[in-house]
Amino acid sequence: MTATILDGNALAQKLRADFKTRAEALAAKGTRPGLAVILVGEDPASAVYVRNKVAGCEKASFHSEKIVYPTDVAQDVVLAKIAELNADPKIHGILVQLPLPKHFDSDLVLEAIAPEKDVDGFHAENVGALMQGQPRFIPCTPYGVTKFFEEAGVNLKGAEAVVIGRSNIVGKPMAMLLLAQSCTVTVCHSQSKDLAFHTRRADILVAAVGRPRMIGPDWVKPGATVIDVGINRVDDPAAPKGYRVVGDVAFDEVAPKCRAITPVPGGVGPMTITMLLANTLEAAERSAK
Ligand code: NAD
Repeated sequence: MTATILDGNALAQKLRADFKTRAEALAAKGTRPGLAVILVGEDPASAVYVRNKVAGCEKASFHSEKIVYPTDVAQDVVLAKIAELNADPKIHGILVQLPLPKHFDSDLVLEAIAPEKDVDGFHAENVGALMQGQPRFIPCTPYGVTKFFEEAGVNLKGAEAVVIGRSNIVGKPMAMLLLAQSCTVTVCHSQSKDLAFHTRRADILVAAVGRPRMIGPDWVKPGATVIDVGINRVDDPAAPKGYRVVGDVAFDEVAPKCRAITPVPGGVGPMTITMLLANTLEAAERSAK
């Protein structure tokens, strides 16, 4: 079987071109989509994510603001800034980069964001709306995965879908979205017994664990659509940086069995920031109405 390789860079580029056109049309009517990103501390990975988010906004003709605080900033200072951004008409989306330092109550901070500006979709009100099948903001990574299904014309109705991972940012919302598309959904996690029993039944397999190449070909049903969310660094002295990035799926061995599969890198990764732009644009379009 020749699998379709679901190219996240190409799909992201196509969607971002559409967002830029929509953003410019909206700006011409007086509303430029605006995203504020708050970063606390100096975690290098978080700094790179924030930089890429702001750069994504600029390329799409969005307004963006980056607010950086030192690690020891008081939580109240960040809460006051969120309150200010909640009231700022230039800002349609607010994002607090996680993880926050230990002295923060992350739930409290996320709940302080106005639900209509919560472009990550982590506020309880937005989680509830997703559960009820009336999403306002869909968390960016699973939202991006749904775009692959649309693009590849994957028939989800009645399909057996297995999601490995139950985090609030990936696994749980992914399961909800698949359920909304009439899949029969199984969610597996670290305490699941006989994972392979479940994965071998899956027409749609989404891996969101964070364990390099844990899914090999004997775990995958022939003809399945496999979405690899995992991002794992593995040592590779031959690689320029001394490491390589691999997914949770052994791509080279699994791909020949699949109908479609996302690579790592170049699959789900590029879609996540793209869907942050989608959520910001949707928020701006709603506020302009
Ligand atoms: P997490 O650590 O919050 O959740 C991991 C989940 O995997 C947990 O629910 C846990 O129960 C499950 N798990 C752990 N070991 C398992 C095992 N042996 N068998 C079955 N399940 C097991 O992680 P997360 O934030 O959901 O991210 C998951 C992966 O996706 C990570 O590699 C992360 O880097 C990656 N990620 C990628 C993107 C992207 O844009 N591509 C976005 C978010 C996360």
